[in-house]
Amino acid sequence: MIGLIEKAEKFHRLDKDELVCLLSCNNDVAAELFAAADRICRKYIGDGIYLRALLEFSDYCRNNCLYCGIRAGNSTCLRYRQSVDDIVQAAVFAKRKGLETIVLQSGEDTFFDSDKMCDIIKRIKALDMAVTLSLGEKSTEEYAAYKKAGADRYLLRIETTDEAVYKAMHPNMSLKNRKRCLYDLKILNYEVGTGTLVGLPNQTAESLAEDILFYVEAGADMVGIGPLIPHPQTPLASAKAGDIMTVMKMVALTRLLLPKANIPAVTAVETLHKGSRDKVLAAGANVVMPNVNAENLKEKYEIYPNKYGIGKSAAEVIKNIENGAKVIGKRVLKSKGNSKAFTPAVVIGLTGGIACGKSYVSSLLAKKGFAVVDCDKIVRELQTYDEDVMKKIKAVFPLAFRNVDGKDVLDRAKLSELTLAKEDGLAEMEKIMIPLVLQRVRELIVFFKKQGKKYIVIDAPLLFEAGLNALCTLVICVYADDEVSLKRYLAREGTSKERLSVLKTRQLPLSEKMKMSDVCIKSENESETAAAVDKFVSECVNMGDVGEK
Ligand code: SAH
Repeated sequence: MIGLIEKAEKFHRLDKDELVCLLSCNNDVAAELFAAADRICRKYIGDGIYLRALLEFSDYCRNNCLYCGIRAGNSTCLRYRQSVDDIVQAAVFAKRKGLETIVLQSGEDTFFDSDKMCDIIKRIKALDMAVTLSLGEKSTEEYAAYKKAGADRYLLRIETTDEAVYKAMHPNMSLKNRKRCLYDLKILNYEVGTGTLVGLPNQTAESLAEDILFYVEAGADMVGIGPLIPHPQTPLASAKAGDIMTVMKMVALTRLLLPKANIPAVTAVETLHKGSRDKVLAAGANVVMPNVNAENLKEKYEIYPNKYGIGKSAAEVIKNIENGAKVIGKRVLKSKGNSKAFTPAVVIGLTGGIACGKSYVSSLLAKKGFAVVDCDKIVRELQTYDEDVMKKIKAVFPLAFRNVDGKDVLDRAKLSELTLAKEDGLAEMEKIMIPLVLQRVRELIVFFKKQGKKYIVIDAPLLFEAGLNALCTLVICVYADDEVSLKRYLAREGTSKERLSVLKTRQLPLSEKMKMSDVCIKSENESETAAAVDKFVSECVNMGDVGEK
C-alpha cells in the first residue's frame, strides 16, 4: 500500500483497483496517504489557503434530490430570494472583508433567468472580484451567456458517477446531462469544479474510485468532496451520515492525482465533526468558503441541518480559519486564487455548405497545429466500432448489414442508399447519431484542452443545426459558388442530384450559415483559400489568449 502512495506521489496516476485499495486502507496507511497529499499540496500550491465568500442567494429549487433539504418537495423549507441589489451589496461587503472571490450558489431557481444572472455577474465583475457560480444544470447557451458576462468559475458536483445511485437520488435528472453540463463548462473556459457527495445509499468504494477518475477525465480545476448529512425533512432522514475518514481519503487521493487543483475543506465536514476542517486542510485541501450571507438567511438555506457558521459572523469565521491554519503550518491568502490547472483554449467552429471545400480548410488549420475534431470521422468511427450504434441502426435499417464471417458488418454505402429511400430516413439517422456525436465531440475537445492545445477546431457540417456553435469562441463558414460545389459533389462516389436535394432539406441554407458566422472563407481556388486561412490564423494568434484572464 505504501508503494501505491509513493507511485501516486511520483506519477500522479492510480488505476481504479489501486484507488479502491487505498480508499479501504487502515488508519496507519491513511496517515501516510494524508502526509503525501499534504506534501504534494505544498509542492504545487504552497502553504496558502484561499478564501471564497459563499453567498447562497435563493433556496427555491425545481429539483427533488433525495438528500437535499431545499428539494422542491420539502414544504417545510422556508423559501427566500435575495434581490439583485442585495446580492451585489453582499459582494461589496465580502470585498470589504478582503475576499476577492464570490461564490453565488442557489437551488435551481428559474426566477433568476439568464438576463438577471448576467446583470448580477456584470455588476460584481465591476468590483474586480472573481465570480464563481453554483446554480445547477443549465443549457449550453446559458453557460455561454454567463461566461460572456464575466463569470470565471462554476461548481457542479457530479455527486456520484454510479448510474444506479445517481438515478435513485435524482428524480427526473440524468447523469448524462450532468456530464454534458460539466463538459460544456470546461469547453467554455470556466474553471470547473466538480465533486462527490460521500455517503449516498449504495455508494461503493468502486464508485468513489470512478468518481476520482472522472474528475481527472473531465479536467476538473476544482474538486469539492463532502459527507452526506441527513436532513430530517427528506427521504434520507434516517440515512447514515457520510464517513469523514472516507471524505479525507477522497480529498487526499484527489490531490495526488490532480496536484494543481483547488480543493476546498467544505462546510459539511466541519458541521459533522468540529475540528475536521483543519485536518482536511492538512491532507491535501487548500480552500475554505466562509458564508457571507445575512444571519437570518444562512439558516433558511438548509441543504442539511445545523450548518457550521450559523451564529458566527464572517469575520469570526475567518479569524477561526486563520488560527487553525497556523497550527498546521499554513496561512490564509485573500487573493483571487485562480486555479493553477486552468488551460483556456479558443474553440473554432468550422462549417459550410455541402461540398463547399470545408475539408481543405480543415486540413490547412490542422497543418498550422490546430487540433481538429472531425464530426464526419466520428460518425464513421461510431458506425464501425460502436456496438450500441450498430444495434440502433439495425433496428431501423436491418438491410444495411452484411454478414461477414458470421459477424454483422455495416455497409455504409447501402445505409446511405436506404436512408434516402425511406421517408424521413435521414431524420431517423440523425436522431440516432447526433446525440452520440455531440457527446464524443465534447469529450474530444476536453481531451485536447487537457493536452494544452490552445486552438481547437470543430469541423461539423451540422454545426448550427446541432447547436454546437454555442460552444465556440468563433465560427468560420466555408463557401464556394453553387456551381463549383455541385460539380465537386457530383464528382464524389455514390452521389446524385436527388441525394443532394434531400441532404439540403436537413441543413440551413448556406446564406444563413454565412450570416451566423464570424468569418467566411471562400474555398474555390487553393492558393487563395490558403492565403485566407493564413490571414485567419495570424489574426487568431493576434487575438491573444482568448479566455485567459
Ligand atoms: N443547485 C446547485 C447547488 C446545490 S447545493 C447544484 O445543483 O449544484 C451544493 C451541494 O450541496 C450539492 O452539490 C450537494 O452535494 C450538497 N448537499 C446537498 N444536500 C446535502 C446534504 N444533505 N448533506 C451534505 N451535502 C449536501
